[in-house]
Amino acid sequence: MRLIAPSPATLDHEEVLVRRGTRSGLFTVVAVHSTVLGPALGGCRMWHYDDARAALRDALRLSRAMTFKSAVAGLPLGGGKGVIMLDGREPPPSREAVLLDFADTVEALGGHYITAEDVGTSAKDMQVIAQATGHVTGLSRRRGGSGDPSPFTALGVRAAIGACCERVFGTASLKGRTICVSGLGHVGMRLARDLMRAGARVLATDIDPAKRAGATAAGARWIATGKALGAAVDVFAPCALGGVIDQETVPLLQAPVVAGAANNQLADDAVAGLLRARGILWAPDFVANAGGIINIAVELEPAGYDPARARARVGELGDTLRGIFAAADTAGTSPLDAAMELARRRLAAAA
Ligand code: NAD
Repeated sequence: MRLIAPSPATLDHEEVLVRRGTRSGLFTVVAVHSTVLGPALGGCRMWHYDDARAALRDALRLSRAMTFKSAVAGLPLGGGKGVIMLDGREPPPSREAVLLDFADTVEALGGHYITAEDVGTSAKDMQVIAQATGHVTGLSRRRGGSGDPSPFTALGVRAAIGACCERVFGTASLKGRTICVSGLGHVGMRLARDLMRAGARVLATDIDPAKRAGATAAGARWIATGKALGAAVDVFAPCALGGVIDQETVPLLQAPVVAGAANNQLADDAVAGLLRARGILWAPDFVANAGGIINIAVELEPAGYDPARARARVGELGDTLRGIFAAADTAGTSPLDAAMELARRRLAAAA
């Protein structure tokens, strides 16, 4: 297959493997950005893309972000990402065939890449993948794995929001804070509930109207998706897909804090400077949403998985963020620059 590559500037990866599955006929991609700190761990995203370039770009961008995420979280892991490109063919291939094809791609990399669940895949899917490769995490608790990472991601985002509020409002308490959660999936819905339990008033939205009943029953106020970004709240928590904050949307933001679970929230790195110039505190996404991977990393420890150890590690994420904010202040840069600098230092030391 001839690949139309993205700009060479985005290609600083160790390996990129694109294979057409023999069972499903679908293309699967695994991008290994770095194994300097350890095997490249990252989720498997199953998604409909407009074309192959978009899927490849996603794998390249997301795998790179995983390198920085693990490095900042202090994990002995590198960065990778898997993508399964759904193409809407009729009849659709069986889910099992698609997952086993992806497993073949993972296996072909001989352990350089370890997969996990991501948007479009679940812990159950990881069990299917485990039939064809051992390089898989996030298996169910019954099978000795760490299970669904989403509750730990939500826990980490909750800690990140607390650290941001402490810096901006002088207290980490969420009592009486208004927080808009955009995207009520595995992470967002749980986060919304956690925030309400902590005393926050939550405005919630999702493009899927079926999410409305659950959100309002839990006590959230529903708002239209188009109004979420500009809502007059203390914290905007993007928990859907990436790219929502760009040159056009930064001026619309009213929240002095942006902290959420979504990967690649900024359209590009320069947007971090625009947020800073507007006095908006942004928790770098790859720091705020590291709870899931911190949990998975516990699964890979020699002592085996222990949820209490995982919760304690995820709780430290707030302190990591406090350190990043302090470093950004000292250097006069954005939290993104400070977080990248911390990751680069750790990668350089390991290299
Ligand atoms: P999910 O697929 O369960 O949920 C995503 C939700 O966002 C869905 O309900 C979807 O309908 C909604 N959505 C999509 N586009 C939207 C839009 N424009 N506006 C509002 N809602 C929209 O995914 P998830 O597991 O909850 O993950 C959410 C985000 O967090 C993703 O970007 C993911 O990569 C990131 N993330 C997740 C984890 C994890 O542990 N699950 C870990 C790290 C990062």
